[in-house]
Amino acid sequence: MNDMLLIRNVLALEKNVIRQELTDVLIGEEGLVLQVGAGINAPDNCREHDMKGAFISRGWVDMHTHIYHGATDLSLLPEQIGMRTGVTCLVDCGSAGEANFKGFRRYIAEQAEERIFAFLNLGSIGLVACNRVSELVMGYRSVDFDRILKVISENRSLIRGIKIRASQVITGDLGIECVRLAKKLARISGLPLIAHVGEPPPLLDEVLPLLEKGDVITHAFNGKSGGNIMEDPLTFALAKEAQSRGVVMDVGHGSASFSFEVARFAFEKGLVPDVISSDLHCHSFAGPVFDLPTTLSKLIALGMSLEDVIECVTIAPRRVLSESVNENWLVPGHHADFTVFTVESVDFQTLDSMGSELQIRKFILPQLAVLGANWKECKSRGLELLTTGN
Ligand SMILES: [Zn+2]
Repeated sequence: MNDMLLIRNVLALEKNVIRQELTDVLIGEEGLVLQVGAGINAPDNCREHDMKGAFISRGWVDMHTHIYHGATDLSLLPEQIGMRTGVTCLVDCGSAGEANFKGFRRYIAEQAEERIFAFLNLGSIGLVACNRVSELVMGYRSVDFDRILKVISENRSLIRGIKIRASQVITGDLGIECVRLAKKLARISGLPLIAHVGEPPPLLDEVLPLLEKGDVITHAFNGKSGGNIMEDPLTFALAKEAQSRGVVMDVGHGSASFSFEVARFAFEKGLVPDVISSDLHCHSFAGPVFDLPTTLSKLIALGMSLEDVIECVTIAPRRVLSESVNENWLVPGHHADFTVFTVESVDFQTLDSMGSELQIRKFILPQLAVLGANWKECKSRGLELLTTGN
């Protein structure tokens, strides 16, 4: 049996909710919040953590990761990027297609200690040999509507969106047609479409008008020629208009898809991210991404507020996943799902996917991740590696 967990002296943080008093939170052996308030008496079988004024938020969600380890050549293990970095929920963004989804459920989702969701790849084989063998390599024969819809209906609890990689290296000569196919599937199944954008064709100008409220652009602040929102005023206007009608703009940092220059340009013109995700995989894990906390700290350095950054990894991704975002998240009776974190003063440089530098002076450092009766002390590899210069 697990011990109870008593978290002392935390400050609840959520946009539009100002709580000035430190509070304690007691979590029972069953993983439910038992008490919230100052000066809770510690029961006998209780692990106590005095967090000394750290913040507590809903558990962080990383909405773009690759965790189909062993079945795709780019995926990490959930445990490498989950609870130990403050992330209680991981979303695999298209690693699995309909042909290999059963393995994702059996060997990843059912084994992980984090909450796991998936965006199902349009292409049957998913990211088995990512970019070497495109998931759409067989053209239209790579997409099987019947099988995709069957897999979705059998895995509703796990599959929360359809993923299309709308880049030329993936789509080949299909161009925008495969985005149309993916959107059709998303509409039939009542799921959002998650569109990766980058190297055209298809053009971002063609992708954006196909997206509706609740659909997602991932890699929204990429710096790729012909595929970014900075170099063409018409493309930027289309992106701004899409966001205003409810299309979700997701960072999806990755090894090639986040530009500080594009982000600064967009922020100045009022286009800021709705969701901040890492796109962690084998090629971004050793840098420039490292982990979600390092990514969040970059967005702070680019001018976002702490409240906004936390909203982008708590409430906003839960909305995309069709999860409830009840305002009373820190009350007795609720299933525990929290991240406790501090904001540390630091001074070091980070890189984006283009090799540009950014000075980091505040680092969002996770301290404790709590999911039900399970909890982990956290750290950041990014902070450790960047401050030791390795
Ligand atoms: Zn990705």
